[in-house]
Amino acid sequence: MTVKSAESKTTATRTLAEPKSGTGKTPPRAARSAADTEKIRAALIARRDELRAEYAQTMSEIAELQRDRLTDSAGDDQADTGTKTFEREQEISLANGMLERVTQVERALERLDEGGYGWCERCGNPIPVERLAAFPSATLCVTCKQLEERR
Ligand SMILES: [Zn+2]
Repeated sequence: MTVKSAESKTTATRTLAEPKSGTGKTPPRAARSAADTEKIRAALIARRDELRAEYAQTMSEIAELQRDRLTDSAGDDQADTGTKTFEREQEISLANGMLERVTQVERALERLDEGGYGWCERCGNPIPVERLAAFPSATLCVTCKQLEERR
């Protein structure tokens, strides 16, 4: 004899990021599941580590290039010196750009912890996990981004 019990699932809707008072400038957000948030976090952390490694690599290459330039600067004329200065500046701006990207991802992770990351700034819809993984600094969903670009 089987007693069929009425299945009463308690699907408690979890409010993950309770909107704090005072932050009323962002549009209303749809809920994102904890699993999605974790996926984003994992993608961001992977990205950050990748960028950090790239940055460290570039920095050591730059240091090496700089050493080479210093060791063979004997007999340089002004044009050589100018080229070297230019190269040096290029390297610095490259390194700064990379560091900037690392910082962007770090900020994204902070905002993710606060619950303020991954929503379109324009329409308030959640930005797909895949898009955030590819572009951690994305602040617009694809639709809004296309609208922006068309203007
Ligand atoms: Zn949007």
